Amino acid sequence: MKKLLSCLFAIIILAISVIPCFAASPSLSVSASDYAVKAGDVIRVTVSLSGNSGLTALTFVVSYNANEFEYINDSDAVGGIFQAEYVNASNGSIVYDGISEGATSPGGTALSFKLRVKNNGGKVGGKISASVNTASDINDAFVKVSGASTSISCDHSKMKWEEKFAPTCIETGMMAGTCTCGYSSMKEIDKVAHTYTSSVIKKPATCTETGIKVGTCSVCGAENAESKIPATGHQYTEWVVKQEATAETVGIKERTCMNCGDVTTQTIPVLIEGITPEDITQPEESSTETTTEFEPIITPEITTEDNFEYETETTTVPSGIFTNAVGSDIAIIAVIALAILVVIVLVMYIVLIIRQKKK
Ligand SMILES: [Zn+2]
Ligand SMILES: [Zn+2]
Ligand SMILES: [Zn+2]
Repeated sequence: MKKLLSCLFAIIILAISVIPCFAASPSLSVSASDYAVKAGDVIRVTVSLSGNSGLTALTFVVSYNANEFEYINDSDAVGGIFQAEYVNASNGSIVYDGISEGATSPGGTALSFKLRVKNNGGKVGGKISASVNTASDINDAFVKVSGASTSISCDHSKMKWEEKFAPTCIETGMMAGTCTCGYSSMKEIDKVAHTYTSSVIKKPATCTETGIKVGTCSVCGAENAESKIPATGHQYTEWVVKQEATAETVGIKERTCMNCGDVTTQTIPVLIEGITPEDITQPEESSTETTTEFEPIITPEITTEDNFEYETETTTVPSGIFTNAVGSDIAIIAVIALAILVVIVLVMYIVLIIRQKKK
């Protein structure tokens, strides 16, 4: 029984001594302030050690391609827990020879530093890695510490785009882009608006009613919103006199729309002697439809000037002298008659005297 107990105790002791072997081994990590960059960008790189590593000494190397990144020497390049930094800018390596001051390392940020992204023949970005040279604990025992790396890529902000297929009003177009880093991509171009260049008449306009037309796309034939066509208005012929005006009756004239046949009539005023046509006010046009078109009032043409010339005939008579031709003839007849009467009376008187003497 004693033998069994001591054996069990030995197993427990062995198990306890083995447990640390299963604890997580310390590790480095590398992070950057920006992972998508363009030439000229400055990024901050941070190398961290996992917590409670128990290390008292650690040496590691951060490496990068000197054609891809340029080390920037600034005051906060060195982190808190390690002491020495050896930068070899020409080959892109930073050696950290860190020795803790007696105590074990608490872990955390080992260091941070800045790199400027270079233009590497059109390409930008690259890999930044940290690998451990040596690590030991308080007993100077070797400790395995895993390294890490991160990749910085091009942000493709220098893409050059070229149109491969032009968009239409029914199909999207296509652009092909190529970055200085060699990356290429395609992207769609939005459809363009319809080109309404021709219009289809849905309902033609008449003299008095508006019509309707609709625009059509010259590319795909799509129709847009309907729009109105203004009414054309009547297109009348010249006035045609149907009945001439006389002194007693008014005349009639009419005209006809060449498009729809609409007829308007107008009266021609009676001819009045002594009144010039300009004095005559035309009566209102009697029409089946009113028109906005201006039509001058046509007045009858006057054929003879004499109708409107009235000369008063005047006869000048000298005062006191009767020179009327008719009047002088009557006077001569009266004188002759009077003379004949006197001769007759004288002859009868002579005859009467001769008869009395014979007795
Ligand atoms: Zn790129
Ligand atoms: Zn179209
Ligand atoms: Zn008409």
